[in-house]
Amino acid sequence: MANDNSFQDVLGRLEDVNKYLNLPPAIYNRLRYPRRSLIVSLPVRMDNGEVKYFEGYRVHYNTARGPAKGGIRYHPKVTLNEVITLAALMTWKCALIDLPFGGAKGGVACDTTKMSRDEIKRMTRRYTHEIAMFIGPESDIPAPDMYTDEQIMAWIMDTYSTIKGYSVPGVVTGKPVCIGGSLGRKSATSQGLVTVLLEAIQHLGFSHGNLAASIIGFGNVGAIAADILSEKGVRIVGLADSKGAIYNPKGLDIKAVKKHKADTKSLAGFKDAEQVSIDDLVCLQCDVLIPAAVAGQINIRNAKGIKARIIAEGANDPTTLEADAILKDKGVFILPDILANAGGVVVSYFEWVQDIQRYFWNEDEIQKRLEGIMTKAFKHVLAIAQDKKVDMRTAAMILGVGRVAEASAVRGLYP
Ligand code: GLU
Repeated sequence: MANDNSFQDVLGRLEDVNKYLNLPPAIYNRLRYPRRSLIVSLPVRMDNGEVKYFEGYRVHYNTARGPAKGGIRYHPKVTLNEVITLAALMTWKCALIDLPFGGAKGGVACDTTKMSRDEIKRMTRRYTHEIAMFIGPESDIPAPDMYTDEQIMAWIMDTYSTIKGYSVPGVVTGKPVCIGGSLGRKSATSQGLVTVLLEAIQHLGFSHGNLAASIIGFGNVGAIAADILSEKGVRIVGLADSKGAIYNPKGLDIKAVKKHKADTKSLAGFKDAEQVSIDDLVCLQCDVLIPAAVAGQINIRNAKGIKARIIAEGANDPTTLEADAILKDKGVFILPDILANAGGVVVSYFEWVQDIQRYFWNEDEIQKRLEGIMTKAFKHVLAIAQDKKVDMRTAAMILGVGRVAEASAVRGLYP
C-alpha cells in the first residue's frame, strides 16, 4: 500500500526532474496539482440484508494530452492520497509512451477477499453510477488494477451503458473480448515488462539464460510474468503473494506453484521451497527483482540488503524515494514503473481505438505493435539517461513530464 507520503514522493520526484527541464513556474506549478478529485460514498446491500457504506474515489490528475486514463483498484487501504499519486503516475506513463491520454485513477476501500461476487457486483454498479458523470470514452476511461478484473469491467460497461440507453464499449478497457475487449489485454502488462527487461538485459551485457528472478506479487502481473520469463529460460527462484513468500535457488516449478495456489489460495506451504517472509525474499540472492504488488515494498528497511542487479517495477510506486537513493548508490539498474508496467495501458489504448472504430485487430498485430512501442520507449529513455547521465527513472520522468508540460504550455491557461 502506498505510504502516506506517497504524494510527497511524487512532488519530490517532480522537483528533481525539473532540475533538468527548467519549466517556467506557471507550468511547473500546474503539474503539482490534481485537476479534479471525486469522493463518493457507496451504500451497498450485503448478502445478509445489511446496508454497508464504502468510500470510493476517481481522480483526473492532468488532461492536457487527452482524455484521462487509468485503472480502478479495490483494496482495504485505498485512500484519496494514494489515488492522486497513482493518477499522477498514469499521467507521466501515458505521456512517456506517447499515448493521447491524460492520467486518472480510481479506487474503492474494500476487502474483496471477504465479499461475495454478488456484493462486489452491487458495489461496482453503485460506484459506476456515482462516477458516471466523470467517465466516458471521450473524458475518462477506467481499466483494471489491483483486485479488479475483466468481469468487473463488464459490469462497469453495462451500468454506464444502461444509464446512457445504448452500448458504450469504449467507456472501459480490459473488458471481456465478447463485448469489445482486446485480444492480448490480460497479458499485456507482463508482456510489456518482459520486453523492456530483455532490452535491459541485452544493454547490460547479461545473458537471460543464466539469470534468476524473484517476483513479489502473484496476481494479474506477477503470475503471467513468471510464465513468460520461465518460458524464456529465466529461473524463477522466489515468489510472494500477500500471504507469504517461497524461495528455491534451483528454480521453482511455476505450473506446480500455480496448482498449489489454486488449491490452497496461497503460495505459503508450497513444499518444494523454503518458506520466507516477503522482506527476506526481497533481499535473497537473485539477478532480477520484480515488485508486482502493492506500493512501497522496496523501502528503507530492505533497500540496503537487495542483491538484484536489475529491478523491473511491475507494480505502481513500489520503491520509496529513500530506497531509490540507496539503490542508485549501489548501481542497481531500475526499470521504473512508468516504463516497465506501461504495456497494460498500451493495449488499453489499442482496445479503446478498436472500440471507437468498431474494427478489431488480430492477436499477432497487437503483440507486434505492443513490442514495437515498448522497445521504442525503452530506447528513448535509455538515450536520455545516457545523454544526461541520469538513472532510468529520472530519464523516464524527463520524457513523460516534459511532454505533459509541453502540452500544457501550448494549450495555455483558461480563461
Ligand atoms: N492499471 C494499469 C496501470 O496502472 C492499467 C491502466 C489502464 O489500462 O488504463 O497502468
